[in-house]
Amino acid sequence: MPETKALSEPQKALLKLGLARDIDLALHLPLRYEDETRIVKLRDAREGDTAQIEATVTACDIAYRPRRQLVVTVDDGSDTCVLRFFSFYPSQQKSLAVGNRLRVRGELKGGFLGWQMVHPTCKPAGGDLPTALTPVYSTVASLPQAYLRKAVLGALARADLSDTFPPGVSETLRPVVWNLREALAFLHQPGSEVPLAALEDRSHPAWQRLKAEELLAQQLSQLESKRERAGLRSPALRAQSGGLHEQLLAVLPFRLTGAQHRVSEEIAGDLARAVPMHRLLQGDVGSGKTVVAALAAAIAIDAGWQCALMAPTEILAEQHFRKLIGWLEPLLAPRGLRVAWLTGSQKKKERGEMLALVASGEAALVVGTHAMIQEQVRFKRLGLAIIDEQHRFGVEQRLALRSKANDADAAGDHVPTPTPALHRTGEAAKPVLRCAGGGANAMEPHLLMMSATPIPRTLAMSYYADLDVSTIDELPPGRTPVVTKLIADSRREEVTQRIRAQVEAGRQVYWVCPLIEESEALDLTNATATHEALSAALPGVMVGLLHSRMPVPEKRAVMQLFTGGQMGVLVATTVIEVGVDVANASLMVIEHAERFGLSQLHQLRGRVGRGAAASACVLLYSAGDGGRLGETARARLKAMVETGDGFEIARRDLDIRGPGEFLGARQSGAPLLRFADLATDTQLLEWARNLAPLVLDRHPELARKHVARWLGGKSEFLKA
Ligand code: ADP
Ligand code: MG
Repeated sequence: MPETKALSEPQKALLKLGLARDIDLALHLPLRYEDETRIVKLRDAREGDTAQIEATVTACDIAYRPRRQLVVTVDDGSDTCVLRFFSFYPSQQKSLAVGNRLRVRGELKGGFLGWQMVHPTCKPAGGDLPTALTPVYSTVASLPQAYLRKAVLGALARADLSDTFPPGVSETLRPVVWNLREALAFLHQPGSEVPLAALEDRSHPAWQRLKAEELLAQQLSQLESKRERAGLRSPALRAQSGGLHEQLLAVLPFRLTGAQHRVSEEIAGDLARAVPMHRLLQGDVGSGKTVVAALAAAIAIDAGWQCALMAPTEILAEQHFRKLIGWLEPLLAPRGLRVAWLTGSQKKKERGEMLALVASGEAALVVGTHAMIQEQVRFKRLGLAIIDEQHRFGVEQRLALRSKANDADAAGDHVPTPTPALHRTGEAAKPVLRCAGGGANAMEPHLLMMSATPIPRTLAMSYYADLDVSTIDELPPGRTPVVTKLIADSRREEVTQRIRAQVEAGRQVYWVCPLIEESEALDLTNATATHEALSAALPGVMVGLLHSRMPVPEKRAVMQLFTGGQMGVLVATTVIEVGVDVANASLMVIEHAERFGLSQLHQLRGRVGRGAAASACVLLYSAGDGGRLGETARARLKAMVETGDGFEIARRDLDIRGPGEFLGARQSGAPLLRFADLATDTQLLEWARNLAPLVLDRHPELARKHVARWLGGKSEFLKA
């Protein structure tokens, strides 16, 4: 362990940026380049240029309006330029004295008073000019560019950049790529002859090399985890004839759709195998994923195992699984089995009781939030874990569930877990979701993830290469399509009339206020104000308020009034985003719709149109300062009006926002692809996908080295 107090500020900053190893620094590529190789004449410069000039100071004064500043005028023989400094030291003032010759570099602004630069860098004129472009790296304040540049160059010289592609492989790439050392030298230290355009062109052989390397690392890591799992064991859970599974089908108030039937078979097929299931069930909002989960749970329980159901928030867990529990509980009771809840807001006593039920195995079904992946939670025989709305969990939480499910040591006997062939993360995984009582019979639970946000094909091929996917592509019969309208916020009054009409017709209405990322407090003010305004505008109608800061019992009470039909209008922040199921709700108003992501809007809209009544969704938008909605914002909202197909919406959303959102990586800061772009580099992705098994089989040593180089300790993230 290096002593941390011995580290300088820049060194600490390096570690914080994840630039610990030489290779990390070598792979930290410049954001852009600056051209300090030339001195230009002001006469030849253009507005907005970052220009370097040499000029003589003709005036140097402190001005006080509009605020205190040092104003320096310089003349380079072709024109003059005013330099402004809003903070300055006496020593600086001295170096800028009249008559001094300076080399000045900064962004040129042309005003009607002539050229200006604000806070340019200045040094004495003369001296050598660099012969190559200067790289500029992304960094933080405590890590100066010059320090970082030196660190990168040093690391580049030291790092092991030997080829990890098996012999002959680079040659198979078209266009031909460079080797790693050449590629990095080119991008970090471009020669004097290299044009800026070549450095920025991501189809350049240097860039192609980096992308190919990165994608191969990702594919290797995925493949390795897939093989790792194939070596693990899970209980083989088979549906018994006349068992719980059939009993559940018999009590359902509806028939399964063809799609539900098909995906249930796929899941049952996985459960019957002795290797862990790793399946994503995707289906549009309202397509009926919950009943499919219930059927899987029934199989697991019938075979004598426990099933855990996890949802991202408490209110969702409750809303989402209420029906499921309603179906299953009466079937469990005669067998002496119970349903246990595990949530963050539980009182200690209740939690203790629940933990005991889980540990004894009496709770066959365990429902809750991520409270169930905490240390103290021990299952007697966990056979199946189901994660609902999986994309709402951060990568880390999903990973916790998986790596912790891997823990075979719950009962104390040490059983070696299968050794990852390619890498080890220094830290031992903490046990969380445990399967059987450990020991030599330790087993991995089957894992079913559910999501209404479909994974685009390129992502399925890369990040989720490791996942089997089932898709429900059909909605239950009798749904009425939701009519979506785009209405300016200035027409709120009309919207209120519409709400009144719906409530008078015996229907119910949601009003959703946006989540303002920077400020939860502001969020609340907005929702509260809307709640008050609507209450005043709708006398005699019960208008409720639901937001994330409310204590859980209060939330529950509000939800009960709404689901019970007494409450006509529910004003909510996005806590109701998923899972709420009130068939009588026929109108949803979404305030500041322009602030939501498309998939999120689609999820919200899915809360109405669940019954037979004609339903509508009003997207209220606020025009910006210019009085008009921006072009992109308009295009996005129009997509909502034009299509009700969640898959199409997800596709457009990916176009607009990029893949980060799908991976839940924003919250967790997990590394995504840095160099490759899934939208444009599909060919390289295919190449890496085909190559990975070959490298892993024939060149395991190169594979290990490659993954360590690229992913270091982070490779776990790519598996979640
Ligand atoms: P989601 O896929 O969004 O989780 P849910 O499982 O909540 O959807 O199902 C939405 C609604 O449709 C629920 O009220 C559910 O009971 C109902 N439902 C599910 N399957 C069917 C079916 N085959 N026929 C009729 N209604 C169904
Ligand atoms: Mg659902």
